[in-house]
Amino acid sequence: MKNETKHDEVSGIPAQGHSRCRFCGTRLTQTFVDLGMSPLCQTHIAPHQLNQMEPFYPLHAYVCDKCFLVQLQEFVSPQDIFSEYAYFSSYSDSWVAHAKQYTESVMPRFGIGPRSRVMEIASNDGYLLQHFVAKGVPVLGIEPAANVAQAAIAKGIPTTVKFFGRKTAGEIATEHGKADLLLGNNVLAHVPDLNDFVAGMRQLLKPDGVITMEFPHLYRLMESNQFDTIYHEHFSYFSFYTVDKVFAAHGITLFDVEELGTHGGSLRIYGRHADDTSKAVTPRAIELRQRELSAGVIDLNGYRGFGEQVRETKRKLLEFLIHAKRAGKHIAGYGAPGKGNTLLNYCGIRQDFVDYTVDRNPYKQGKYTPGTRIPIHHPDKIRETKPDYVLILPWNLRQEIIGQLAYIREWGGRFVVPIPEVKVLP
Ligand SMILES: [Zn+2]
Repeated sequence: MKNETKHDEVSGIPAQGHSRCRFCGTRLTQTFVDLGMSPLCQTHIAPHQLNQMEPFYPLHAYVCDKCFLVQLQEFVSPQDIFSEYAYFSSYSDSWVAHAKQYTESVMPRFGIGPRSRVMEIASNDGYLLQHFVAKGVPVLGIEPAANVAQAAIAKGIPTTVKFFGRKTAGEIATEHGKADLLLGNNVLAHVPDLNDFVAGMRQLLKPDGVITMEFPHLYRLMESNQFDTIYHEHFSYFSFYTVDKVFAAHGITLFDVEELGTHGGSLRIYGRHADDTSKAVTPRAIELRQRELSAGVIDLNGYRGFGEQVRETKRKLLEFLIHAKRAGKHIAGYGAPGKGNTLLNYCGIRQDFVDYTVDRNPYKQGKYTPGTRIPIHHPDKIRETKPDYVLILPWNLRQEIIGQLAYIREWGGRFVVPIPEVKVLP
C-alpha cells in the first residue's frame, strides 16, 4: 500500500512505527521500549578509528498488537554481521558442557543413533555436533560464518557454509536427505525473515522428525529487567505463546518445552509435524502456555510498563555512579559484551564514570567500546590499578567472574552488577 507513512503531529517528521511485524505483517505502532540511538554492538573501535564517526541506529523495540512478537526493525543485514564472526562457541566451557548434556538427553528420548541424521542450523565451530559424532551419529552443520565453519570442518564435522531458509533447505534435502533431528540454538532471534526460516525447517524435517531450538525467553527478559539483551543483532524476542503461533503457521506443533537457566533464562522448544501424532503435547507445554496467559502475554498493558521500569533502572545506576565518583572512587568495567554496549550507550556511561573495561577475548583488547569509547584492556589491568568497584557487564556470568577476580577483595574492591537493578555485592 502507498502513502501510509504517518507524520509526527508536532515536527512533521515521518514517525517511526510504520514498519510491519516480521511474522504476521501487522503495522507496528506499540512501543515495547525505546533505548534511543545505539551503534552496532560488535563494532569495537580500533585506535586509528578514534577520530572517525560511527553509525548509530534506533534501538526501538515494538510489540505487535496482533501476535505479540517483540521485535526490532532490521537496520543491518545478517550477511554483514555473521559472514565473518568473532565468536567461537567452544571458548565457553559451560556452553560445551550444556551441549553434551543436551545430546545425552535427546538421543535416548527420540531414538537417535547411527542410522539417524542430525542437522544443526548455526552450528558454529561444532561445539554441539561433536558430541553426536563421538557417538557415531551422522551429522551436518549449517553455518554462515566461513571462518567458524572451517574450525568445525577441521574437527571432522561436515559443515555447509550457508544462511538458512527455504532455498538452503531444498538444496540440503536434495543433496543429503532430511533430518531426524533438526536443531538450532540462539539463532531464531537473529533471523530477519522468520517465515522463510521456519518454512525451511519444516521442509527439511522427516515426517517423524523432531525440531529443537533454544532462545532467550521474553517472559524472563521482562521479569528480570534484562533490557540490555536488546541489541540490533537480536531482531525478535519470543514468548512461548508467540513462538508457538509462528511454528503452527508453518505446520509445526510445539509438543514440549523446557525452561533453562542459560542466557538469563531460555526456552528449549520441541517441534514436530502437525500430523505426526506419535508425540503428545506434554503437560509442561500446556502449563507454560497457561502461565504466560495468566501473566498477560496477550494483553498490551502487560508490555506497557516495561519502558518506565527500564528508565528507572537507568536512574538508579546513574545515581550509584554519581555518588561513587563524588566520593572519589575508581570504577572499572569487566567485559565488553553486546549487552554491555546497550547498557553503556543507553545510560550514557563513558570514561566520566568507568575508567576502562577488560575482556579475555584478545580480539577486543586494545580497542574501545562502540559509541562510548571506553578502552578495553587485558584483565591484568585490574590487578595493576586496584579499582574500588568492578562493574560486571556480562551479569549472566557473574559467578564465574567473581571467582576469577576474588583477589580484588585484597584491597577492599567490590563487585557491582547493573541488572536487574544496580547492586553492590557483599
Ligand atoms: Zn505480528
